[in-house]
Order: sequence, then structure tokens, then C-alpha cells
Amino acid sequence: MAAAAPALTLSDGASLLDTLHAGLRGTIGVYLVPQAGDAGRAGRFDLVEAGPQVDLEALEAATRGLGLDPGAVERVLVTHIHLDHAGAAGAWAARHGAKVVVLAAGAEHLVDPSRLLASARRIYGDALERIWGPVTPLDPSALEVVAGGQELLVGGRRVRVVATPGHARHHATFVWPGGVAYTGDAAGIRFPGWPVVRPALPPPELDLEAWDATFARLGALDLAELRLTHFGAYHDAAAHLQRARERTHAWADSLLAWAVAGCTRAEARARLDAYARDELRDAGADEATIARYLATSDAAMSVSGLERYWAKQHPERWPGFEDRDG
Ligand SMILES: [Zn+2]
Repeated sequence: MAAAAPALTLSDGASLLDTLHAGLRGTIGVYLVPQAGDAGRAGRFDLVEAGPQVDLEALEAATRGLGLDPGAVERVLVTHIHLDHAGAAGAWAARHGAKVVVLAAGAEHLVDPSRLLASARRIYGDALERIWGPVTPLDPSALEVVAGGQELLVGGRRVRVVATPGHARHHATFVWPGGVAYTGDAAGIRFPGWPVVRPALPPPELDLEAWDATFARLGALDLAELRLTHFGAYHDAAAHLQRARERTHAWADSLLAWAVAGCTRAEARARLDAYARDELRDAGADEATIARYLATSDAAMSVSGLERYWAKQHPERWPGFEDRDG
């Protein structure tokens, strides 16, 4: 029997559930939004993100801990299909009858996760199942495909779907009334109590030009609050988005400069790791906090995401890494 994930109540009555992924506090969040008022149905709720399937039972226990039956979930809105966000979406649908809301480009990978899993296996190798658990394919009858710009009635509230590509092509942000935005990975990674925004730069779809348009689109919405999957709620939306954009470009430009100067891939990983640790130490972070940041996305993943971006989008500027490793 899984221990219940801890829950934190937010300003509007939503809860942030901590999946305690891999035994670490505060790295992967799932948001539970109770339905209420005339238009919603008492006792029912919606989720933003599903978390990885390895953490499903902890989330079910947390839901019960809030006095809600997991079977009373109506929709699971996933920002994108990466396993830490949507790995358990198919299982929530199968076990509890939830509908799963996703942008069109992500939908087919929830129904048939084989390509998604092959891509993840290139990153995680044999550790894939141990880290993320299995992935139950989503029954197509549970799919609710949405498009950017659309409004969706969720629990009686008008929720705006905003296409926010950059981290992944099919990434969406969901904006509740009052300017509360569930940003997935589109606004980077940050932990409560720290100003440092860590860029989230995985392969294979990273696209900085698309991400710049996303930062502009989110900035124009004059948001009141950002709710990050990794991790928590932040009220300094404009400053956060500006920092996320700055750090994303600083990392990308640094990697390009190191490659131009002739470093190997292994050297680039070591330099980016040191660079990221220095950013956190300069902000006063202790070693435990640094370890939590690094657990969300390590330097090897960021280097391969950026390497693929530069080689694909700007081959004329990208020299490739030196090959002195062998
Ligand atoms: Zn992601």
C-alpha cells in the first residue's frame, strides 16, 4: 500500500499533490481542482497532470486523504505527454473513468505510447520502468483532444487552452479564471523559496524560437500565478517568465560557445553541470536543494536536448562536439 502523497492547499482551493517521486519531496506535482458552485458538481474534481504511473497509488491515496474518491475524477488535463506529466493518464482513465485532455499532436502517443517509450528509453535505458513505471495505453474513447486558443468548461469554470511549444511541440498551458496558469514545463523548473529557474531542455523537440513565442504569449496574458509541475505556485509571474527565458538562452548560448571552442560532449556535460550548480550556490542553495534541482533534469539530458536543437535548427552555427573521448 503506497503512502499518501502530501497535499498543499492553494489560494483558490485547488491542491498541489506531491508524488514524492523517487523518495524526493517536491519534484513532481499533480494539481487537484475540486468542482464547486452552481456549475460544478460537489465531490467531483479534475486533475492537471497525471504524474508518472509509478506514483499512481500514492496519488490515489492523497486524493482519499482530501476526502475525495479517486473515481470522482472527471478530467485529467495533461500539459504534454512526457512520462513525468502524463505517464499515468491512461491508468487514471482505465481505473477511474476520467477523460484525458491533451493537444492533438500528443494524443496519438497516449493511445500508442510505443514511440514515446522508445524515445524515453534512449535517455533512461534499462532504468526506464524502475524510474517511471509502466504506461497503460489510453483508451481512445477517453480522449478529449483540444486546440490552442480554445476554451473548455472544466468543473463549471472557463479554462483557456494556450499552445505553449518550445519544451515540446505539443505542450499546452491551461489558464483558469483569475489568471492562474498551469504551465507544465513551459515556464521551466523552480522550487519554493528559491528564485532560480532551471531550464527544462530535453530532446527531441526542443525549439528555442517556438519557446520565445511561448514566453511572449504567456507574458501577454498578464498572469496572476504560475503553477509549475516541478514545482509549486509562484505569484511573481512576469519576473519568473523573464528569468526562465534568460536562463534558457544563457544555457543554449553557453553550450554553443563551448562547442565552438572545441570541447567534447563529456566536457560539455561536466561544464553545464558545474554552471548549473554555481547558479544555485550563488543564490544560496544548500546541497540538498541542488540535488533536487538536478533530479528533475540532469546535464546529460540538457546537453543532448540542446545539441539536437542547434544541429537541427541552426546547422550553419553548430560545429558539433570534438571527438576525443575514445
Ligand atoms: Zn517535459
